[in-house]
Amino acid sequence: MKKTDRRSFLQASLTGVAGLAAAPLFGSLAGCQTAPSRKPSAAATSAPTGPVTATKLTERVTLISGVPGNVIALSSPDGVVLVDSGSAALASAVRKNLGGAKVHTLINTHYHADQTGGNEQFSKAGAEIHSHKITAQWLETDYYVPADDRWVKAQPKAAWPTKTFREKSGMKAGAESIECGYLLEAHTRGDIYVFFRDSNVLAVGDVASPLRDPVLDWYAGGWLGGRVDAMEDLLAIAKDDTKIVPCYGPVMTRAQLQAEHDMMKHLYDRTTDLTDHGRSAQDMLEAGVLKEVNREFKDPYKFLYDVCKGHWAHYTNFGGNIV
Ligand SMILES: [Zn+2]
Repeated sequence: MKKTDRRSFLQASLTGVAGLAAAPLFGSLAGCQTAPSRKPSAAATSAPTGPVTATKLTERVTLISGVPGNVIALSSPDGVVLVDSGSAALASAVRKNLGGAKVHTLINTHYHADQTGGNEQFSKAGAEIHSHKITAQWLETDYYVPADDRWVKAQPKAAWPTKTFREKSGMKAGAESIECGYLLEAHTRGDIYVFFRDSNVLAVGDVASPLRDPVLDWYAGGWLGGRVDAMEDLLAIAKDDTKIVPCYGPVMTRAQLQAEHDMMKHLYDRTTDLTDHGRSAQDMLEAGVLKEVNREFKDPYKFLYDVCKGHWAHYTNFGGNIV
């Protein structure tokens, strides 16, 4: 199926998602497959993964890693523009690495706790928080995490984004042009990229995942078709020498992003075909689908389970007659 086919349906399906965070999407699909064992999901706060480090990517852009993922800081004469705030436990470590510089703008790539846990702290210190509209809705609402069978309380009001957008947003910080854009249903339903155009650094959130298994937060609207489309959008923006920064893992080149896209596209083609023929995540695992790509999955069944959940929610995008 062509990208435009996937996207045109998805654009239409966006109408009326405002109440998404509180909507119980579960129910009828829950019994169709064995749920993966309950372990902390993407929406849970991760433990620290290693030492906190700060690396200069360009004259103005610094990468702070290990909080527990990546946070990007752009220095400007007016203060710092931050992409993601780290987990609640590690936000102080982020601030420490800024050396006392004031953050005037914080941009969230999506709602997960590892990226938004420091929102309250930075907001109280004077930062204005920007995000996609749907990310703000998740942060403002209690939500259920099916993989862990638990509820997460809404973040305090100080942590809520106050400047939101749906498609694109732009701003200047000193000499730097900053562009943000929607990545439709790539990992959640509120993912964005942040492109520091003059520094040539592209933050892609959890839409690329060179280190951890790619996560599809299907309960929040992410699915494999959306992810493939979003990666194509990112490839259109990135130049050969753009520094591409995922939420977890090392800085990527465009060629590495292209390779990850090609892997996900192959898995999209294979798993949609199998879903069309009524196959389950377990069937896909036994058929060796993940062995067809050059990637070691740490939890292959969980990845395929999440792929299938997303496919069922979007089956009219690629088939429409699952047998
Ligand atoms: Zn995430």
